[in-house]
Amino acid sequence: MPDGPLDPREHLTSPTTRTVLRIQAALLAAARRYLTEAGFVELLPPIIGPVTDPGIRGSKQIDVDFYGHRYKLMTSAILYKQTSLLAFDKIFYIAPNVRLEPPDAFSTQRHLVEFHQIDVEVAEAGRADVMRLLEGLLRHQIAAVESEHGDELAALGRSTGAFKQLQEQPFDQMTHAAAVTALQGLGHEQSPQAEIDWRGEEVLSTAAGVPFFVTDYPKGSRGFYDRESRSEPGLLRNFDLIAPEGFGELCSGSEREFEHRRLVSRIRETGENPAKYGWYLEAARHGIPSSAGFGIGVERLTRYVAGLDGVWQASAYPKFPGMVSA
Ligand code: AMP
Ligand code: MG
Repeated sequence: MPDGPLDPREHLTSPTTRTVLRIQAALLAAARRYLTEAGFVELLPPIIGPVTDPGIRGSKQIDVDFYGHRYKLMTSAILYKQTSLLAFDKIFYIAPNVRLEPPDAFSTQRHLVEFHQIDVEVAEAGRADVMRLLEGLLRHQIAAVESEHGDELAALGRSTGAFKQLQEQPFDQMTHAAAVTALQGLGHEQSPQAEIDWRGEEVLSTAAGVPFFVTDYPKGSRGFYDRESRSEPGLLRNFDLIAPEGFGELCSGSEREFEHRRLVSRIRETGENPAKYGWYLEAARHGIPSSAGFGIGVERLTRYVAGLDGVWQASAYPKFPGMVSA
């Protein structure tokens, strides 16, 4: 990580930044192509609203004065993704997110304060459907970058063959409980009730050769909108996709809670007042589709594909946790 704020001119004119941003543009173009051809409609996401995703463990939301009302900058588009399915069955956004990450996230190499997600949601879909969609999407994006920007990957020192296994093998899968056991076996203290912590995620990621899914996180470790299993209460029908080589989490996804009654009780369980989620719960009261979806971190994916030391190198204007910057 840099010692202080970056000089925008130096950063933007550096050959590395230019190469990385071209690779990122190719990843985005490939995602748009793949999803559009699969029948998805791209919508433009709102960037402020009366509420946003509360499931942002450890980071804070930013308030905006909206004609005297306290609005929020979007920490994720989840509430809008679900309701967008009233218009179309398959939607995606390329959505900006702002999260005031804790200053100690500065050194993880994986956290920015402002980042983007390729946010996908599919009506009437189950978890396995969107996991398969995610695999296909990532393979397509990476194949496009390899064929169109092979020289640039080589210039960054990304070895040819880095994605051979990813293109040829199914992604591995383990439950959160199995990940906790594996980590504890390696001497890493990981709570069975919490998300895999940054260090634990890196340990698992470093040991892997292909991206792998971690499924079935415990309730309480994620937002109220991740659907709880009916057959195994306490477990969520969700997943993360973790990149190999130590790059860590690329994507989180889930089946969603969508029934008004269940949403209200899940919100209450987190200690929040459902009245805060007025417009969203009103939509759910009149009926929103059941769905599943995921969000891929654009800068995280770029970092993995380009083999970068830090996620900040995949942003034109990186904002670092705890550092005042342009
Ligand atoms: P989450 O809702 O926390 O699962 O975030 C969705 C995806 O966005 C993650 O899988 C990451 O790829 C990415 N992401 C989350 N937080 C950050 C951050 N602070 N900086 C960069 N990317 C992030
Ligand atoms: Mg996540």
